[in-house]
Amino acid sequence: MSGNIVLNCKDKVFTEKILNDLEDFQKEAMNFFEIDKLSRTFNVQIYDSLTNFVNFVTFNGKEPKRYHDGTVATTRNGVVHILNLELYTQDERHKNNNYDDYIKTLKHEFVHICHEEILKDKNIMPPLLMEGIATRLAGQTKYANKVTEINCSADDLVFDFYKIKNNYAYAYEIMGYLMQNKSHNDLLKILSEPQKEDVDRLIKDTNKFLKSKQNTIEKQKL
Ligand SMILES: [Zn+2]
Repeated sequence: MSGNIVLNCKDKVFTEKILNDLEDFQKEAMNFFEIDKLSRTFNVQIYDSLTNFVNFVTFNGKEPKRYHDGTVATTRNGVVHILNLELYTQDERHKNNNYDDYIKTLKHEFVHICHEEILKDKNIMPPLLMEGIATRLAGQTKYANKVTEINCSADDLVFDFYKIKNNYAYAYEIMGYLMQNKSHNDLLKILSEPQKEDVDRLIKDTNKFLKSKQNTIEKQKL
């Protein structure tokens, strides 16, 4: 394993397993973004105490709203803080999750780190395309086919992404449209300056794409 990934976890067997499982993915993701090396390491802090995790997330209770049901991981200053698998699956929203989902969460975060490398302006990371490519490359198929159309405004997707319903499913479908209809080069160009994308256009094109997919499925049924 190259020194790109650093895991802090008391459970050495679990650590070894995660590192092994992330190794191939690391190459895959870096190949996708056409980068040879990362300018920083991917740091992961794994918690085996829920109290410690909640304290971290809420800044020792000063910002209690930051922790809510479903908070199992957070990224701060480039470090991923995540509950261990046991605590992760104890959370109501993640009770049906398994190790596979857990590792996909880490892959997702790793994609963000790689994505950052190709951004022309590192201060601008629009969530729509950022979450789209992370969910796609991490193989988070739980977001697939959850929606048959993008049913919100471009402004919602750009300015209120984290507040809207089906946000990750929308990001997943929009990125699916881009991945199937753009060359790899064009896709990388888009991802390097995601703020330049006309999101209104993207919604229309994705909806057309989803509709034609739907029609094909219908026809096959006949
Ligand atoms: Zn993300």
